[in-house]
Amino acid sequence: MKVLVTGGCGYVGSNIVAALGDNGYTIGILDNLATAPVEIVEDLRAKVDAKLTFFETDVTHIEALKPAVKAFSPHVVIHCAGLKSIADSWQNPLAYFDVNVSGTINLLKAMDYAGCTRLIFSSSATVYGDPEFLPITEDHPLAPINPYGRSKLMAEMIMHDWQRKAEGRGVAVLRYFNPVGAHHDHLLGDNPKTPANNLFPIICQVLAGQREGLSILGDDYPTPDGTGERDYIHITDLSEAHIRAIAKTAEPAFLALNIGTGKPTSVRQVIAEFERHSNAQINARIEPRRPGDVATTFASNQLSVEKLGDYVHNTTEDAVASSLRAAGLKQHS
Ligand code: UDP
Repeated sequence: MKVLVTGGCGYVGSNIVAALGDNGYTIGILDNLATAPVEIVEDLRAKVDAKLTFFETDVTHIEALKPAVKAFSPHVVIHCAGLKSIADSWQNPLAYFDVNVSGTINLLKAMDYAGCTRLIFSSSATVYGDPEFLPITEDHPLAPINPYGRSKLMAEMIMHDWQRKAEGRGVAVLRYFNPVGAHHDHLLGDNPKTPANNLFPIICQVLAGQREGLSILGDDYPTPDGTGERDYIHITDLSEAHIRAIAKTAEPAFLALNIGTGKPTSVRQVIAEFERHSNAQINARIEPRRPGDVATTFASNQLSVEKLGDYVHNTTEDAVASSLRAAGLKQHS
């Protein structure tokens, strides 16, 4: 079976490619290499024991996209290509709508052109906006509070209308909470070409001596230790959820599922875990809250586990250990 991964060279995409390889799929990668180094393609080829075709194509270039999708003729597309920084989306909102919304429209046109009816989408819990209740279930109001979240929600809505339009189309929208960690064997970590602004890669950079210290962005939240709580899902578990969702797209339906552990972990707990595993002290200082950050958010993964089977096998501790290994950092045994 042929699966095309857009954004297959990025952090999430490359881990999904590895999981597809582990599960014997024939893989296509479509990526513009904007955030990933070009060596990743050969690296993936070496790591993934599977047939792999690479298209250096941008989803905003419909004229190049259509022939590429048609040439590969996938049974299923996993759409990970997109821009993903909330802060950047305030600076460049049109770029977010261009890539995440127009890029999705282009992809659906290209899929129609190639006769592909099955799609999995890399969506985000940011589509919910500020939590009105916890844990967040899939029927929580959809009220994103930044351009990035709005672009993801628009893409979801467009896919839903595309799915409804014709018989036999199947879409699974996977709303990620906080993907972290690295593939255990292939060590595909979160090492963006662009500056990191997520907690795990920043801590790795501090431990690697590439940054002076970590800013704890707020310690006055109404949480047990005052720092923000998130639902950190191991990238290997998230990839497995995609593999399982492939079968779901054979059903003519639109399925929106949270991908998370169902458990909140605080910034201080993450720091403590990194310190324990690296046997090093992390230079951290308290800074003001980051605008737009909420105190606590975590998923209800009840529906996704019901639909996909239990995909949560790793803990935050496993994610910390694999992040350190992928970053080539010393681990305390
Ligand atoms: N965070 C922090 N310092 C940083 C980056 C993040 O204290 O330099 C906190 C942030 O306030 C949040 C958590 O770490 O509580 C996760 O942030 P991240 O940017 O990784 O993911 P988000 O949930 O914001 O998408």
